[in-house]
Amino acid sequence: MTVPTATASIPFFPPDLFETDREALLETVYSIGTGTEQKFILGERTARLEEELREGLGAGDVVACSSGTSALTLVLTAMGVGPGDEVVVPAFGCAPLASTVVNSGARPVFADIDPLTLTADPAAAASLVTARTKALMPAHMFSFMADMPGFRALADRHGLRLVEDSAVAQGGVLHGRPAGRWGDAGVYSFVQVKTFGMPGEGGVVVTDDPRLARDVRMLRNHGQDGVRRFHHHRVGYNSRFDEVLADFQLRRLAGLPARLARRAEIAAYYSERFAPLADRGITAPPVGGDGRCHYVYAVLARRRDALVAHLAERGVGSHVYYPRTLPEQPAFAPYAPGGARWPRAESAARRNLALPLYPHLSDAEVEHVADAVCAFAHTDDTEDR
Ligand SMILES: *Cc1c(COP(=O)(O)O)cnc(C)c1O
Repeated sequence: MTVPTATASIPFFPPDLFETDREALLETVYSIGTGTEQKFILGERTARLEEELREGLGAGDVVACSSGTSALTLVLTAMGVGPGDEVVVPAFGCAPLASTVVNSGARPVFADIDPLTLTADPAAAASLVTARTKALMPAHMFSFMADMPGFRALADRHGLRLVEDSAVAQGGVLHGRPAGRWGDAGVYSFVQVKTFGMPGEGGVVVTDDPRLARDVRMLRNHGQDGVRRFHHHRVGYNSRFDEVLADFQLRRLAGLPARLARRAEIAAYYSERFAPLADRGITAPPVGGDGRCHYVYAVLARRRDALVAHLAERGVGSHVYYPRTLPEQPAFAPYAPGGARWPRAESAARRNLALPLYPHLSDAEVEHVADAVCAFAHTDDTEDR
């Protein structure tokens, strides 16, 4: 589906994300380029970012790497996931959930989702556990954390590793425990569109397990031990972190809670406005509460394509995240059992539509988006039924 954002006055992806940071970024490039350390990767700034994040989370270790996808790969590799193993992943979500498993040599096993949170359902996952299952990899989605107590219990019951794909959920908290700290390891992504996005690629692994942390550290830099260069203990990757971006993130870290709070405020406003639309074919997530994160604000719309067009006419950009389930993607269909269905994931793929959600949206813009959605819900829909 194409969304004509070119004419939109409220784009889905904001074009001016880093406007105020331009000076700082240029200064950083200059100071690293002329500094005595001469390290554009894995220098003191990366170490400081890791330490500040670790401290804020109260975690055992935080290891910065080249992307959220790479963080998942490093964790799966460190856990020894490989050929002959199965990893249970959500049937609805982003490609890395399946591709990182496939690239490790293991097989992704797709679990259907909860119809409200759109995250993997622990009961569905439980029915898929076999003697070959090595790990569970639920993911937080849009604005909901997955049922991590349910997955923790399932993992413990069967002695499985728990990988928490918290790429989108930095700042989320469930039962007092931060997103990223529920799994044996969690990850965050810093790619531009994420809540702690930056002008480039990067991510981190979060873990309390010192052996896992040590192995992830080795694996991100060609299996070296970090003390003696060119001593390779494991077959690793190039998944290092950029110093310029580490500096950028260190500067922006203090402002993250305020930006997350503004996202939460906008999401709450949308949800209040949309609550009455449930019997008019638009289901919105409930207002706030425990276990929420505010990465993407997605409604489920019965007449989604018509809503996209209606919003575009009113200058509002929107975005379909995942128009297909993962097992329906040609890349991953070969790993799905023939004839199997994921009815809730398929329904979410048909109906989800994300609305603009970023901290620098003005109240007037947020109101305009909400008005446009509400006006659509009240139009005559007989032609589209
Ligand atoms: C964005 C995302 C990733 C991948 O992060 P990148 O930094 O883009 O590689 C993984 N999992 C989920 C759920 C994501 O949303």
